[in-house]
Amino acid sequence: AIRLENVSKLFGESRAVDDVSIEIPAGSFTVLLGPSGCGKSTTLRMIAGLEGTDEGRIFIGGDDVTGKPSSKRDISMVFQSYALFPHLSVAENIIFGLRVRKVDARERREKLARVADLLGLSELLERKPAQLSGGQQQRVALGRAIIGEKPVCLMDEPLSNLDAKLRHEMRVELRGLQQRLGFTMVYVTHDQVEAITMADQVVLLNAGRAEQAATPRDLYERPATPFAARFIGTPP
Ligand code: ATP
Ligand code: MG
Repeated sequence: AIRLENVSKLFGESRAVDDVSIEIPAGSFTVLLGPSGCGKSTTLRMIAGLEGTDEGRIFIGGDDVTGKPSSKRDISMVFQSYALFPHLSVAENIIFGLRVRKVDARERREKLARVADLLGLSELLERKPAQLSGGQQQRVALGRAIIGEKPVCLMDEPLSNLDAKLRHEMRVELRGLQQRLGFTMVYVTHDQVEAITMADQVVLLNAGRAEQAATPRDLYERPATPFAARFIGTPP
């Protein structure tokens, strides 16, 4: 599980994240949802250790990781711009992290074959990112994230560059993958449909505060605040 206890982040005088406490169960698909500027990315970046906390504590798998650098947290990440290395092949992109961690060549090959098979990339391993479609590039980014078999995966609007049809396909694929592999997903989006269709738990953020944490169904049927009702689109 991941736990945030009274976490705040200040940029100058303004509280980008304001006293947020949330519990993300192990193995769950948890979505951080809310309008632009509400603090989703900042919250995710604090969980990742890319951004320090000004107040509060963060626990991952029972460990207090507050103040620990990103490299000491057992996580993988995928961002909106998936930042593939353009000069490396698909295969080299996917195994990059394993190489950094000095995983031996045989194990790299085995893991690559498994991940490529899982994501339908086996025929594309020798290509460069520029020779792939948007959805294929997205799958390479996912491959790079899951090959390390970390217990936690953090994603910030990973599908926002894709067209509607592909976005729908990738939602299904990503959700299936997460369920099969069983890792904990923390997924940022401003898209209500994405949140409702993918999440076990939705955490709705508004102006830096956690308005409500609930299952999609409860959020839809029992919004706790007028903001939640408006944002999810329940008729009054
Ligand atoms: P979006 O949906 O547009 O990506 P978000 O919910 O991810 O929005 P954040 O990026 O977390 O929002 O930003 C939350 C608030 O903090 C915003 O008001 C933003 O302007 C501010 N902010 C974010 N990063 C910085 C920074 N490095 N310096 C100053 N202010 C920042
Ligand atoms: Mg953001």
